[in-house]
Amino acid sequence: MEFKLARINLSTQKVTEEKIDEKTLRRFIGGRGLGAYLALKEIPKGIDPFSLENKVYILTGPIVGTAAIESGRYHVVAKSPLTGILGDANSGGQFGPWLRFAGYDGLVLEGASEDPVWISIVNGEIKFHDAKHLWGKGVIHTEKVIRETMGVTKESLGSVLSVGPAAENRSRIAAVMNDRYRAAGRSGLASVIASKGVKAIWAYGNRKVLDELYDKRKYMEEAKKLIKKILEHPISKSLNEFGTAVLVNVINAHGALPTKNWTRGTFEKAFNISGERLAEVYLKARKGCWGCAIQCSRVSEVESGPFKTPISEGPEYETIWANGADTMIGDLDALVKANYLLNDMGFDTISFGSTVATLMEIYERAKKGELPEEKAKELFELLGDVNPEWGNPHALIQLIWMAAYRNRIGDLVAEGAKRLAEYFGVPEAAIHVRGMEMPAYDPRGINSMALSYATSNRGGCHLRAYSVSFDVLGVPKKFDPLGIDMEKVQLVKMQQDYFSFIDSVIVCKFNTFASGPEDYVELMKAAMGWEDFTVEELLETGERIYNTERLFAVREGTNYRDTLPKRLLEEPLPDGPAKGRTAKEALEKYLPEYYKLRGWEDGKPLPETLKRLGLEEFLYIVS
Ligand code: SF4
Repeated sequence: MEFKLARINLSTQKVTEEKIDEKTLRRFIGGRGLGAYLALKEIPKGIDPFSLENKVYILTGPIVGTAAIESGRYHVVAKSPLTGILGDANSGGQFGPWLRFAGYDGLVLEGASEDPVWISIVNGEIKFHDAKHLWGKGVIHTEKVIRETMGVTKESLGSVLSVGPAAENRSRIAAVMNDRYRAAGRSGLASVIASKGVKAIWAYGNRKVLDELYDKRKYMEEAKKLIKKILEHPISKSLNEFGTAVLVNVINAHGALPTKNWTRGTFEKAFNISGERLAEVYLKARKGCWGCAIQCSRVSEVESGPFKTPISEGPEYETIWANGADTMIGDLDALVKANYLLNDMGFDTISFGSTVATLMEIYERAKKGELPEEKAKELFELLGDVNPEWGNPHALIQLIWMAAYRNRIGDLVAEGAKRLAEYFGVPEAAIHVRGMEMPAYDPRGINSMALSYATSNRGGCHLRAYSVSFDVLGVPKKFDPLGIDMEKVQLVKMQQDYFSFIDSVIVCKFNTFASGPEDYVELMKAAMGWEDFTVEELLETGERIYNTERLFAVREGTNYRDTLPKRLLEEPLPDGPAKGRTAKEALEKYLPEYYKLRGWEDGKPLPETLKRLGLEEFLYIVS
């Protein structure tokens, strides 16, 4: 199989084509893995993420766009302005497949354009277009204008990737958007794209990627078996019925729904913002990404009232949690509206809601006289008429606009929770790992998440290892979420390795509730002709990718140590089934065993680990 990249130099508007050789593809697959490898080789140590030397890798994988099994994704990789280490994020929708149909399996953005541009890619032809009239405009307007310009208004044809005002204004929590409502949200990478002067990318074409597979007939047979398995799984069924927000009530019942900026584990208004309520009151239709049979996306609307919102997609569980329970906002009208605006402005909804929760805590502490006088005075001045009381939905909506355009307090909110809290001298009010805000599962109530979060390479993240699957959902088997069990360590490592492969190939992680590495072995044999491919090789490939990502942080010299925010280690939960628990014991017991399994010491891969994984070219980083 040919895997073709277009290197686009924005400074010169020169494009060069590059083919990834078979050996590299087998070692790093595509997507996240290939991105990590290229970034570690090509992005110099210590650079400013907004400098010309940073590069953005927008990569698909070898089975993206090949029908079914949720293969409609792409992955973005660059040095993150939020964490200062390798950032990455992926998204569904349609952009991944259409990029391949347009003739390229991936793009590398280099240099920077003096004036804003948007790029069209149609059947292998890349053109640059003036984007001055789009700069400052929201994602929805941008997509509309580009589609009209290209003369393709039918939604199922072609796809636009774009960045919103948040990214143009260098917010460190800006999301790469595509198909209006889909986001490669985490790590703030949209601002790196904007720093290159790129507002949007249009992809369209008629390349037949399915025909390029090694054995198309066998591939389709294997894919059909997998789809059947996925569709029959009860989690797939509930994702279709209630969307990801089905988790609100489930996680709240476990006392692990972070509430009031992680000072509580249950939210009394959880039902008001649940997937069940979303389906009952707001749902207009169910929708899916390209080639997806699960269809977990919600099409929702607020028909009237102060938070009236046009028909749009979402909100997802994490968005509802971060902007809802974490800020104590129990009004789903407001959360649907906030989701719509956050998508249009191009924000990572997890980081944004978490940052607002941090601001609410800072505000409360300022009112109680717990901030230095001059800092409290400055805060009140910057807030003006914004009243970030816990549970105030109007403040949330105001802050979205203010952060997108960096007005007053919005200038600090756009920096993310860590920088905001540090600015006001209360770093402990920001709940993050490696500078990235954490998502919606409190490890004091689901203790395997202590290890999953602490060792996540890109920062506070539930998608490197989703150990909620075994601690709460019972996949592959049920554990006590509060019990210390060393088998969980093996499962966290296994998930991290398996998910590294999944994000590289690339398919949606929601199918991993039903699928296992063995399913992808057969698929890869048929797709690539790798007849001797095995489960062991698949997991070792994932492990190689995980180590490559870690090496980027080790090379930077900071931010590779694996720990959790002080609040989670030292402050027991005051409520719910996990009352009285911290995450300290779990992390202290799990981490040494994890390092043993990984072949790491103090967060760094050992030289023999790199040799075992064929990463000798990076030995210089650890020796
Ligand atoms: S399960 Fe949901 S997120 Fe995954 S591909 Fe389907 S619609 Fe997209």
